Amino acid sequence: MQDLAKVYGQGPSAVHALRGVSMEVGEGRLLVLLGPSGSGKSTFLNILGGLDRATSGHVWFGDTDLTECDDDALTEYRRSSVGFVFQFYNLIASLTARENVSLITEISVNPLDPAEALALVGLERRPDHFPAQLSGGEQQRVAIARAIAKRPQVLLCDEPTGALDSATGVRVLAALETINRELGTTVFIITHNAVVAEMGDEVVQFGDGRMVDRRVNTKRKPPLELRW
Ligand code: ADP
Repeated sequence: MQDLAKVYGQGPSAVHALRGVSMEVGEGRLLVLLGPSGSGKSTFLNILGGLDRATSGHVWFGDTDLTECDDDALTEYRRSSVGFVFQFYNLIASLTARENVSLITEISVNPLDPAEALALVGLERRPDHFPAQLSGGEQQRVAIARAIAKRPQVLLCDEPTGALDSATGVRVLAALETINRELGTTVFIITHNAVVAEMGDEVVQFGDGRMVDRRVNTKRKPPLELRW
């Protein structure tokens, strides 16, 4: 990302959500993004994932400048290279865990087997459960299995534990860590919870649309050891 800026609206009511963020991220890294509400974290992640476009600046994915891509190319990038996990799971209630994952694997080029994706998040024993028969944390892990089943290079997670208590939240984070370690997926996790920073390779702090700090953890802490 190079000098990324985003302005919503115009004139006196314009909101400067990002004010020039530059960051290079190596393949396979796990980044934790912290910062107060409204500091630009979601805007940053949405531009990174091709859900939104920058007002100025560049986003490079390998040799491709996403800010120069037309809508079709951006859709193709999003479809093949990016997985998303949000605070709410958005599972289809009338489909089982396996069927929710299969929806994606059926339209992907080189997908994981749905059973393999569910095993990576620790749900190998629950493929035939419907969302209503699963806890919040389990539903979020199905959503993670669905997001990574197409083997995206990048997994973007916006407050993935926002609706969960500590005990179930750490299992969701453990699932994200397993994916990063076993599949080599580059993972970004937005959180309000500073404790989560300890599981990252790097911790990026946002403030008022800027990156105000970036540090490297010498050692990652296993998510199951985190408590908040
Ligand atoms: P964070 O994720 O750190 O809470 P956001 O990226 O969601 O921050 O928001 C940054 C700023 O941009 C906030 O002031 C927010 O109100 C504003 N904003 C975000 N999305 C929109 C939008 N679609 N239209 C107008 N303003 C927006």
